[in-house]
Amino acid sequence: MSKSCAATRVSDHNAWLPTEFRIVARRNELADVFTLELAGPEPFRFAPGQFNMLYVPGFGEAAISISSDSDRPERFQHTIRVVGNVTRRLQKFSSGDRLFLRGPFGTGWPIDRCPSRDVVIACGGLGLAPLRPVIYYLLHRRSQFGAIHLLYGARTPRDLLYAEEFAVWQSQGIEVRVTIDRGDESWRGAIGVVTQLMKPLRWRPESTMVLTCGPEVMMRFVAQEALAQQVRPDHVFLSMERNMNCAVGWCGHCQLGPSFVCKDGPVYTYAQIEPFLYVEDL
Ligand SMILES: Cc1cc2nc3c(=O)[nH]c(=O)nc-3n(C[C@H](O)[C@H](O)[C@H](O)COP(=O)(O)OP(=O)(O)OC[C@H]3O[C@@H](n4cnc5c(N)ncnc54)[C@H](O)[C@@H]3O)c2cc1C
Repeated sequence: MSKSCAATRVSDHNAWLPTEFRIVARRNELADVFTLELAGPEPFRFAPGQFNMLYVPGFGEAAISISSDSDRPERFQHTIRVVGNVTRRLQKFSSGDRLFLRGPFGTGWPIDRCPSRDVVIACGGLGLAPLRPVIYYLLHRRSQFGAIHLLYGARTPRDLLYAEEFAVWQSQGIEVRVTIDRGDESWRGAIGVVTQLMKPLRWRPESTMVLTCGPEVMMRFVAQEALAQQVRPDHVFLSMERNMNCAVGWCGHCQLGPSFVCKDGPVYTYAQIEPFLYVEDL
């Protein structure tokens, strides 16, 4: 792996100790997705791409990415899809309630180490949540990077996350392209998979990094297309998801090949993860 572009690693401070945070805002994003904004006694510092373990006493913990601006640590956000025990309970929380969390955990996206490059962000569905901090980071430092592309896919127009921010990002220097699987009568945009949005880009493969998050099959195709465009395998970054428990590499729940997603990931280079990406049910 190139040293200049390795994924960020942050120490596990207070790894076992849940800390109480106040919910200062709550917002419905999609039919089954909502965002909680939290504040604590001190600023909460994290790297884009890291996650927290949100803890509801009596219900359990869930790994949830931090989806807000890392340059504004006084408040931070989690965007959550309702799927099971903990997230169903979290859905009932509103402004003024308190919740516990451990974190931040995991490797972040390596953006701080790769100035002057072009950046291609290719994501699907809720995969935009852990990449939104990257977008804010790049926008705050826009002049330090080359072309920045956000390629985003969702099932239908109603499944587009943070859609109201797209025009703002575009006006601030990010090329935003969106595609969906199934249109409706009002949809005038692209229909198809995210990789179709990759092909027409003007690639400078030697100085491009690709960041991808979403369904694993989508990330595999994104990585293959990036490689077909001659991007180096250690400049393609994927955020992996596995069922998680301790978040500090002890319990083994999130083992992926020889690594643990909680502490060695969730962000890996394609060069690191490629041998395990194609093993069924790993
Ligand atoms: C690093 C990381 C970041 C994540 N970020 C987010 C995020 O930003 N927003 C968000 O909504 N979700 C995120 N997730 C997924 C979230 O952690 C799971 O959906 C979590 O299990 C929800 O907890 P629950 O108790 O509500 O559901 P559970 O009752 O735990 O699970 C419901 C079902 O999903 C299955 N499942 C649980 N976790 C996973 C998993 N990781 N992969 C595949 N199947 C699983 C369970 O086996 C069960 O069938 C992230 C996961 C990881 C590992």
